[in-house]
Amino acid sequence: MANKLPFYIDIHAHHLPATPSNDVLTVLNRLPLDPMPITSNSNVYYSVGWHPWWVNEQSPIDWDNFAFQLQQSNTILVGECGLDHLRGAPLTIQIPIFEQQIRLAQKYQKPIIVHCVRAWSELISLRRSTQNTIPMIIHGFVAKPTVLQMLLSANCHVSFGTALLRSNPVLHHSFRTMPANKLFLETDDSQIPIQEIYQAAAAIRKISVEELSNILHKNWNSLFCNSI
Ligand SMILES: [Zn+2]
Repeated sequence: MANKLPFYIDIHAHHLPATPSNDVLTVLNRLPLDPMPITSNSNVYYSVGWHPWWVNEQSPIDWDNFAFQLQQSNTILVGECGLDHLRGAPLTIQIPIFEQQIRLAQKYQKPIIVHCVRAWSELISLRRSTQNTIPMIIHGFVAKPTVLQMLLSANCHVSFGTALLRSNPVLHHSFRTMPANKLFLETDDSQIPIQEIYQAAAAIRKISVEELSNILHKNWNSLFCNSI
């Protein structure tokens, strides 16, 4: 990216900040059926994907149109997409749709933002079977430390959100000890400003917000500096 990065990066959001700020870069999530964005704002990028809650056998997906959307330069992530064992269609329906999104992410060289609930082993085996090398960011991480280790071994990035604001010693320990180069932060569907999440995250890792900002800038550049 040619321009200086904003101080804060929100890697996965369903809303733009209530108070617009040049200090915040937002990756705003869209469904493929949402209207294509018409405004261009250098601090807003998009992810587009079929969320596992909204896929079913009855509504076939227009993959050509989806591929067209992925090729837009301000669309930088595929997703959120993934697997959810507790909600939506059965996994047998979710898996091929996720698989196709992984293939397209690989084809167009766009990292994937992943929603995964209680389907970790299916996720890892899909990552292996599709032989994809495209980065995967697991969003809204709240799972057990053993799951985190499994994801890190599969070379995934992991994004944390508002769960860091609550007292949760196990999650805080995971966040404090995980490798800095795999870390992202997000607001997801909350209205809590990303600045508050940075503050909590920095306190948990016992570093300054500036250091945290540098870490996330490096991680952003490692994924996108050649493509944006
Ligand atoms: Zn989300």
